[in-house]
Amino acid sequence: MRSQWLSACELSENDLQRLERFYEDIQSDVEQFLGYPCNAIFDYSPLFRFFQYPLNNVGDPYLSSNFRLNTHAFECEVLEIFQTLTDAPKGSTWGYVTNGGTEGNHYGLFLARELLPEGLVYYSQDAHYSIDKILRCLNLRSIMIRSYPDGRMDLDDLRETLRIHRDLPPIVCATVGTTMKGAVDDIAGIQAIFRDLAIHRHYIHADAALGGMLLPFVDNPPPWNFSAGIDSIAISGHKMIGSPIPCGVVLAKKSNVDLIAQSVEYIGTLDTTLSGSRNALTPLFLWYAFHTVGIEGFKRIIPACLEVADYAIAQLNQIHRNAWRYPHSNTVVFDRPLPEVTRRWQLACQGKFSHLIAMPHVTPTHIDRLVADILAAEPIAPLPAMEIVPACEIVPSIPEQDITLVGTANKNLLAEVSAALAAEGLSIEALAAAAAESEGIEVVKLRVDDRERALQILNQNLDIGRCYGQASSFGDREADLVLSKLAYQSVSEDALLVQLEDRPGALAELLKSCRGEAVTIRSIRLLWRGKGKGVVAISTTSPAALKTLLEDRILLS
Ligand SMILES: *Cc1c(COP(=O)(O)O)cnc(C)c1O
Repeated sequence: MRSQWLSACELSENDLQRLERFYEDIQSDVEQFLGYPCNAIFDYSPLFRFFQYPLNNVGDPYLSSNFRLNTHAFECEVLEIFQTLTDAPKGSTWGYVTNGGTEGNHYGLFLARELLPEGLVYYSQDAHYSIDKILRCLNLRSIMIRSYPDGRMDLDDLRETLRIHRDLPPIVCATVGTTMKGAVDDIAGIQAIFRDLAIHRHYIHADAALGGMLLPFVDNPPPWNFSAGIDSIAISGHKMIGSPIPCGVVLAKKSNVDLIAQSVEYIGTLDTTLSGSRNALTPLFLWYAFHTVGIEGFKRIIPACLEVADYAIAQLNQIHRNAWRYPHSNTVVFDRPLPEVTRRWQLACQGKFSHLIAMPHVTPTHIDRLVADILAAEPIAPLPAMEIVPACEIVPSIPEQDITLVGTANKNLLAEVSAALAAEGLSIEALAAAAAESEGIEVVKLRVDDRERALQILNQNLDIGRCYGQASSFGDREADLVLSKLAYQSVSEDALLVQLEDRPGALAELLKSCRGEAVTIRSIRLLWRGKGKGVVAISTTSPAALKTLLEDRILLS
């Protein structure tokens, strides 16, 4: 080789220092890498010698090509492993190693469009942001379906929407592990809706970027793969497996792919992939991971990640951050910390939530440091001598049990609600409420043990008209937005923590005495219940007056 062309090319002292500084920054930032689902633990150094060659996996991995500097053989072995993990029918499944989850989703929806050109795509509010863009690229008609607050696609909404559009074949993009909450869309439920509505032509693409490498390794996963009737699936390679170069796989039914394959003379093979030139190193990395860590290794790693996630939940709930996760997910959702904390720990946020993802490089020590940082930014002393039960349970809230009420701000909605429920002996299990006089709106969201009865009582007693669960133009999602805008700010910034007796009526009495003293409440949230006591965070326009009023019951201000 003409290596003398390169021998005279050296970096200047400045450039060398620049690289050195960058290296040090990366070394330190990887120690605070909790918010994104990318495993930082891998060692591909035995593969470094392949960096010397212009390897390229252009074309179909299963076919021979004129471009021989490729790793197609390794790529096919990797695909076979993913076929096993996803219960794909052997011999009738096709796929390739992509640049990441997004390309896999693009391919899956592209294939769906080629098969069902008049198809209508359904995807949820919690679907990955790439789906919107892909639908625009493909010029596909689509309808966004509501999600439950816990992140799963709302199947009632899907059913209603499908019913209206029965003339168009549906293409459902189901998320297997949503980006923010780790929720898995109910694929069996989606299939049941197709059956009920007698829809025979349909396509399901599964976006399993992270979940596709979790669910094969947990006990009793929900239906998510080819045996659940999906038509294609995308999984990221750089997420759970870990790779210094982003990558992923897409798998699809071979019979479908054959319908759209195009032969290209220039490369002497079929042009079946979205990218032309394709990364040949990433299939080698994935192959290496499966031949070193192996399936057995992942069977140990994933439960260990879930243990760290549970540790994080316990520690975060010690400091009242309402942490929870899905049973099969390493994504821990909790109350959004202050920006200095989210920045330092690279935490992704959405509205009032943040999440951390217990990837293999995340240890209890990282969690302890994060918790210490959250406390330093917003000191909340542990509540004394109380057995703490989170208001938001560790398993996801059952959204059907929440009641959302929207009223005009001057009506004292919360006081009326709590009095009405207390009069009938119903106890409130979880609560968030906020009022914005400027916007003329008050939102109350609560959970009670007997939702039907509570709705009955509220509809009889309140003049507010709009309860979630009834025909409602002000949806749960909008209510959540208002709550996050109002309640989060006020609860986190200047809330007083007040102790209550845990019995029906305690809240109603508190609110009544506030009204008696003309103390205006901006937001209130039930943080904890346990051992006959409850703790609410109250934010008010007149904290001094509230403090005087509730002196003995203030835990922390
Ligand atoms: C991360 C993610 C993607 C995108 O994957 P990339 O590999 O980053 O392209 C798509 N969908 C979901 C649910 C994800 O979490």
